[in-house]
Amino acid sequence: MYRFTGRITIISFIAVGIFVVALNVNLITRGSDSSEIISSATPHLEDSELKMETMFYDRLDNNMVQCRICFRNCILQEGERGFCRNRENIGGTLYNIVYGKPSAIMVDPIEKEPQFHFLPGSRILCLGSAGCNFRCRFCHNWHLSQRSIEEIGHSGPLFPEDVVNMAIRQNVPTISFTYNEPTSWYEYLYDIAKLAKDEGIRVIFHSNGSMNPEPLRALLPYVDSVTIDLKGFTDEFYEKVSEAKLEPVKQTLEIIREEGVWLEIVNLVVPTLNDDPDDIRRMCEYIRDSLGEYTPLHFTRFFPNYRLTDLPPTPVETLEKARTIARDVGLKYVYIGNVPGHRYNSTFCPHCDEKLVDRYHFSVHGVRVENGRCGTCGESISGIWE
Ligand code: SF4
Repeated sequence: MYRFTGRITIISFIAVGIFVVALNVNLITRGSDSSEIISSATPHLEDSELKMETMFYDRLDNNMVQCRICFRNCILQEGERGFCRNRENIGGTLYNIVYGKPSAIMVDPIEKEPQFHFLPGSRILCLGSAGCNFRCRFCHNWHLSQRSIEEIGHSGPLFPEDVVNMAIRQNVPTISFTYNEPTSWYEYLYDIAKLAKDEGIRVIFHSNGSMNPEPLRALLPYVDSVTIDLKGFTDEFYEKVSEAKLEPVKQTLEIIREEGVWLEIVNLVVPTLNDDPDDIRRMCEYIRDSLGEYTPLHFTRFFPNYRLTDLPPTPVETLEKARTIARDVGLKYVYIGNVPGHRYNSTFCPHCDEKLVDRYHFSVHGVRVENGRCGTCGESISGIWE
């Protein structure tokens, strides 16, 4: 039996905190990579008082519940938390316990997502929290994603209106959910995206692509663009390295394409684990046939990290070979990431090969896309440019 629960509003006395937090936001500039850290005031409420009922779940017998937000569909007894650590069965009701509790708030260049065909050179207000529904052995943000909210702390309460107002005040055109898996605090993303749409602020998110179809389809009308990690192209890789599955990710990619939301794909190439040229070719053929040849694909360089410290960084030649395969297959926009200064940090016209967006790593030094077309030959260039 499937049930879409009604939303609950957070009890009114909490609302007093909104203004206090909003007034106490500080902006700190962090030097060389052009990120700005925004830290909010210390919490004004006990953590246990701030939570939101999960939007998609079933109530089962004996006060058990089944979450329907992601492919894991966790069944939880009273007092238990889901695999992502962010949803808890409290008295037979399933709550998102990190709602309004961001642990990282930054202003970044959009190129960091990466989103290379969406307002190049613009800034994004990034939010992240604790928790993830994957267990990637190479996770670069494991300090956030592989921890509970109690372990890492947070800057909440920060309500959806606070976040949207923060973007407006900082003159940032886009809000991004990133750092940890947005699926694991879905309701927060959903509420902010809806509000942001009304205020003319754009919303993007970077995900492992494992949201169930129903919550995904409910969210996409309020979202402008998505970056999905396609971590490999075998079930074995997903199971062994991420404790996850490939099929839900493919389904997510296809739904995003179907719904007409802008999509970019990242493939982190890890030596010996997912760098088989045949697998890369199959992945590129899948992207071409199921998502379209104009879908940007970013091959990014692995560096030893977290639980994968026994492998070397990806050789640049491996990334270049992967790019050659993708271009041979027919993909039009293929990038090499985590290699600052590489020629294929930049965007080239697929028709005349003119450099259209001149990038060095995350910095944009020039854009020659005019009204969505190549400034030289007039070829239509896929993406959102204004
Ligand atoms: S969102 Fe969390 S609780 Fe829900 S199914 Fe996924 S891992 Fe389980």
